[in-house]
Amino acid sequence: MEVRVTSSGELERVISALESIVTPAQVLLQGHDDFEKYGSDETEDLVFLPDVVVRPETTEQVSEILKLCYRERVPVTPRGGGTGLSGGALPVHGGVVLSLERMNQILEIDKENFFARLQPGVITQIFQETVEAEGLFYPPDPASRGTCTIGGNLAEGAGGPRALKYGVTKDYVYGVEAVLPQGEIVRFGGKLLKDVVGYNLLGLLIGSEGTLAVITEATMKLIPLPRFRNTLLVPFNEMAAAARTVPAIMRRGIIPCAMEFMERACIKAIETHREMKVQHSDAAAQLLIEVDGNDEMQLEHEMEIIAEECDREGALGVYLAETTAKQNEIWEMRRSAGEAVKSISPYKEEDTVVPRARLPELVAGIHEIAARYEISIISYGHAGDGNIHCNILKRNLEDSYWKEVLPKAIEEIFRLAVHLGGTISGEHGIGYSQKRFLSIALGPTEIALLRRMKEAFDPLGLLNPGKIFSDS
Ligand SMILES: Cc1cc2nc3c(=O)[nH]c(=O)nc-3n(C[C@H](O)[C@H](O)[C@H](O)COP(=O)(O)OP(=O)(O)OC[C@H]3O[C@@H](n4cnc5c(N)ncnc54)[C@H](O)[C@@H]3O)c2cc1C
Repeated sequence: MEVRVTSSGELERVISALESIVTPAQVLLQGHDDFEKYGSDETEDLVFLPDVVVRPETTEQVSEILKLCYRERVPVTPRGGGTGLSGGALPVHGGVVLSLERMNQILEIDKENFFARLQPGVITQIFQETVEAEGLFYPPDPASRGTCTIGGNLAEGAGGPRALKYGVTKDYVYGVEAVLPQGEIVRFGGKLLKDVVGYNLLGLLIGSEGTLAVITEATMKLIPLPRFRNTLLVPFNEMAAAARTVPAIMRRGIIPCAMEFMERACIKAIETHREMKVQHSDAAAQLLIEVDGNDEMQLEHEMEIIAEECDREGALGVYLAETTAKQNEIWEMRRSAGEAVKSISPYKEEDTVVPRARLPELVAGIHEIAARYEISIISYGHAGDGNIHCNILKRNLEDSYWKEVLPKAIEEIFRLAVHLGGTISGEHGIGYSQKRFLSIALGPTEIALLRRMKEAFDPLGLLNPGKIFSDS
């Protein structure tokens, strides 16, 4: 639906009301130094400027803002760190960007019950490091953890490398406070490991991409921090061998906390981007494998088994990071993969996921599609979860060829993922950029049910319009 502040009179009225809800300094307009950043996120080169940005500090202010926008029929787009990769935070219908960045307090770390309560604008890495200083562990760690927020993680159902052993954001959220599009404040769950009262609306909000409610507080489960971790980098001469090693390790009864995959072109992009040299950078692919736990001997034993499986698949070596500094360096390298690959040329990133054992078929299939369309695709990602990010690069293709083949190639990749028992997004969401492909993953009945849920929460379609559904 096309709902937008159009006349300057209406806009002035909305701005002045916003300024009285927060302070004038927290209402940003075109011309402000920071304004333009709210018109984009990390999704390709898409830009949609809002009419106004508002940065509340309390749940009550969020509620008042949503009441005002509902009354005035103004679209509202919630925003966290703006690191999304499916355009979820883009104000595609203009209106208000509701930035949660100033709601950034960790309200409580409850060491008795192993829970934390926090506001949505807390940066994920700050949350992790704060609880780690208390001997506790918050495992979900999207590679963007230095800039993304807990609210964005909840809204996207974010994952990350440690999902393999520890699960994803949805596995750690036990309570939320949220504000509905008409301004009502609701609360679901809390510091409870068991709660089966009513429908699981908490679960519904996780991964709802800011289209059903604005999350204003979360109660997140914590676990004890493992005392030891070992990190390995394993190059392979054959991409399929790296992919086969992932299920082979699991078949031996070991669950590493991460098994990350980077193909040669990705490693080369990292070398160029970071001006560094990676060992065996000519290998077809590398696996970054990490094990963690409290028993050092047990970890040694697990690493021996992992090395055996890597050798069996013809690994060129199994290299242990000897120091914490080396471990961190390897992780920094991996976390920079997205940025490095995207610095090569315009791109489109896909977030395919399949059951782990089908990964070799997915990787091979993606390369076959790339060869057939004569396009460049660079893959990396969370191999242990069967979740591969494949970046389709424009490089020096003619604009007309790029526009013609890109949707065809994406559709084939998605159909392949679904054929292998997977789906079109493991952790980045549908948002704006993937909505045209939704029907590859879900049937008409499922999509109709999703639409009815959206209508139940947001009858006027004002909260984050233009997302998930192709004609909303
Ligand atoms: C280099 C890089 C690496 C990445 N690695 C990973 C990874 O390993 N795993 C992974 O899962 N993702 C990854 N991402 C994607 C992205 O970081 C995640 O989707 C993240 O969860 C987005 O958080 P954000 O705070 O930046 O949200 P934003 O981009 O600001 O918003 C994302 C969505 O959440 C909604 N939203 C934000 N806050 C709220 C709120 N309080 N209430 C309701 N809705 C809200 C927005 O409307 C939007 O739809 C990566 C991105 C980059 C750029």
